[in-house]
Amino acid sequence: TFTTTARRAAQSVAEMEAPNAYGIGVSKAQGVVKGLTGAIGNTPLIRLNHISDATGCEVLGKAEFMNPGGSIKDRAALFVVKDAEEKGLLKTGGTVVEGTAGNTGIGLAHVCRSKGYKCVIYMPNTQSQGKIDLLRLLGAEVYPVPAVAFDNPENYNHQAKRHAERLENAVWTNQFDNIANRQAHIETTGPEIWAQTKGKVDAFTCATGTGGTLAGVTRYLKTVSDVFLGGSSWKRAAFVYPVWGKLTERAGSSITEGIGQGRVTDNLGQDIDLLDGSMHISDEKSIEQVYRCLDEEGLYLGASSCLNVAAAKELAENLGKGHTVVTMLCDGAYRYADRLFSKKWLTEKKLLGAIPKHLEKYIVL
Ligand code: PMP
Repeated sequence: TFTTTARRAAQSVAEMEAPNAYGIGVSKAQGVVKGLTGAIGNTPLIRLNHISDATGCEVLGKAEFMNPGGSIKDRAALFVVKDAEEKGLLKTGGTVVEGTAGNTGIGLAHVCRSKGYKCVIYMPNTQSQGKIDLLRLLGAEVYPVPAVAFDNPENYNHQAKRHAERLENAVWTNQFDNIANRQAHIETTGPEIWAQTKGKVDAFTCATGTGGTLAGVTRYLKTVSDVFLGGSSWKRAAFVYPVWGKLTERAGSSITEGIGQGRVTDNLGQDIDLLDGSMHISDEKSIEQVYRCLDEEGLYLGASSCLNVAAAKELAENLGKGHTVVTMLCDGAYRYADRLFSKKWLTEKKLLGAIPKHLEKYIVL
């Protein structure tokens, strides 16, 4: 009955125990938060039921698509803005400038609106009109500029830097080399994972763009495990990276947007030494996992999330039954649907054959 359900839910909230008798988690129901920025983080840690049952492990995904801007990058956006405020670089009515083609810009645009700052975004002009429109809808000033390499002074990152230098009361947030990005994950993502698993996490894996997530979470988990768990050899912070000369001696490109970086950013920096290993997930496996997450788990996820899930599954299989493996569900499939579920795009990318026959029904665009 309704009354029983409501009473049970109330009891479960009172005890702050998730989930309640109906499997409804209460981790987002934390009381009133202050404004949009208060709603960033504290995302649920979802047990991926199908994969967990199949591997005999607890394979858990951090639901970053539930952040207000729809991605993991809200955390970094909040922290780089907070850092600029604390250093006195950004005062009331100031301007935040960033070079970004994706989620960071969306996160920054949200955070800036809620705090009353102007937001200026530089991006390569190869990006979709949809992305430009969305950023403009969120109040950002957008400059699509020619897509040239990082060593060219006209690269979008350098243009963003110069734009900030020309203005008073403005900051270039520089997500790649500004370690306030990593700090977001040391202070929020890492501790959340630790608390949600009650300290039982054997392995963590995620792909890197700026490296902020991987470095921050790794640094936090390695620190607390040395204190509380001892045997840190159980923990394998695996490195999932499609384009990496130094660590993997592999090069190439990926269909996965938002990850892959050809240099060691300051955010990753010396934290590379804390990593125990690296894993390589093919585009075929990532795209298959996009369809499997949808069909088996009911989760509509972007390709980087599903690359992470595929890596977590592989880690679970390698570690064997009884282990807990955590990964990041970075964003949803909404922004990529016209590619990920399009027959034409899959054919162009030679990935049509990677979709299992029984899942072809999801290729609807
Ligand atoms: N997945 C998606 C969808 C992203 O947008 C990003 C950030 N570009 C990442 C993963 C990687 O996160 P990070 O920058 O913390 O390495």
